Amino acid sequence: MTLQLHDTLKGKKVPFEPLIEGEVTMYLCGPTVYNYAHIGNARPAVVFDLLARLLRRSYKLTFARNITDVDDKINTASVETGKPIDEITARFIKAYNDDMGALGVRAPDIEPRATQHIGEMITMIETLIEKEFAYEAENHVLFDVSANENYGALSKRDLREMIAGARVEVAPYKRAAHDFVLWKPSTPELPGWDSPWGRGRPGWHIECSAMAKKHLGETIDIHAGGRDLVFPHHENEMAQSCCAHDGAPFARYWLHNGFLSMDEAKMSKSLGNVLFVHEMIKTIPGEVIRLALLSAHYKQPLDWSADSIESARRMLDRLYGALQGVVVSDEARAAADVPKAVLAALEDDLNSPRAMAALFGLVKNLNKATKDEEKASLAAALYAGGELMGLLGNDPDEWFVGHVKGDMAPDEIEALIEKRLTAKAARDFETADTIRDQLLDAGITIQDGHDGTSWRRS
Ligand code: AMP
Ligand code: ZN
Repeated sequence: MTLQLHDTLKGKKVPFEPLIEGEVTMYLCGPTVYNYAHIGNARPAVVFDLLARLLRRSYKLTFARNITDVDDKINTASVETGKPIDEITARFIKAYNDDMGALGVRAPDIEPRATQHIGEMITMIETLIEKEFAYEAENHVLFDVSANENYGALSKRDLREMIAGARVEVAPYKRAAHDFVLWKPSTPELPGWDSPWGRGRPGWHIECSAMAKKHLGETIDIHAGGRDLVFPHHENEMAQSCCAHDGAPFARYWLHNGFLSMDEAKMSKSLGNVLFVHEMIKTIPGEVIRLALLSAHYKQPLDWSADSIESARRMLDRLYGALQGVVVSDEARAAADVPKAVLAALEDDLNSPRAMAALFGLVKNLNKATKDEEKASLAAALYAGGELMGLLGNDPDEWFVGHVKGDMAPDEIEALIEKRLTAKAARDFETADTIRDQLLDAGITIQDGHDGTSWRRS
């Protein structure tokens, strides 16, 4: 496998080589569980699920995606709803896993929870204090950014410029504005754990450093997350881990997905444009949402609109339409290789739009094919490529029941009519009838005449 990945730290696409031959460790910053996941949160889950599927073909992958279940946003949600914290986190952990599952996201190998790793966090903070990278002040422990000369390397920020531009108001217990919290005190009504610095709770960044170390080791191969996490979250994780581990690199490759916006606006509750996956999957097949998320390259911004769903739905209709009526044995499916062009696209920094284009190349050939054998082998290759991308898991006939309604595009209608005529010419009346029914389901009535088949929307 000749995988190339864009590494945020190096600022370019580089060949991927794991630390240990044949094995890969990957850590993805997961959800903070105080609410349902919105469509933006689903983007890293889906794109790095695709990367995990690709890696598993060639490596023994250990993939950890954490759960942040101690956070001030969760505390606020508890105060606002009057519900205990445990009840809130348990509910949204389940919802997150169910919702991502509906988008074809496979469970990671490890799903560590912050609250189950407080001991590891305390140990790492103690190490940082001992090595003089952190200091205690008024029951807080802070990371001393000035002690880490590499600080700013990931987010390409110059610490001196950051200091000059800092706001004047600095918390009294901090030596410098950029020092960040490793541990903070908790009042009796807030979640807290005993520590050498009194009862308190961890800062957000130390959670990931401690959990990555525990489950994947001091140096991990791939660290992934959304663009917004580069600074401060990942910059701080890198500082903590490198300083605690005597300079050992924290992650060999840093991957960040671009942001998803809604009709060119930032998704926010105050704008009322937050789309929760939990709601979307009630009316939209998860596969459509997954494909819409994969239709842009993961590094690019993705502007979500009503059209995102419609065009993904149309693409799936074309894929399933080509597969409909083609008989492929289970053995042929199991034996089929992922098409080379699909693999080449994904190995080139996870170029999912190019991989989709490769699948559509197969669709074109499949629609033209006349021999059963040829059809079966093209369909098997299509299924294999689809499976790698987490798509085409439905039965083509079932796909069309209920999914295609009213808005089928004319070129798709024409293509189906063409397919039906080919089937009729080959005296395959069963396929011809299935296509007629499929068109009827979509609200299209067809009429055979002397000069071809006409259609109208009924
Ligand atoms: P959070 O639960 O806010 O910590 O976010 C979970 C993951 O979703 C992180 O990897 C974020 O970077 C990512 N994320 C949040 N909002 C968006 C968005 N609008 N587009 C893409 N990724 C996002
Ligand atoms: Zn993290």
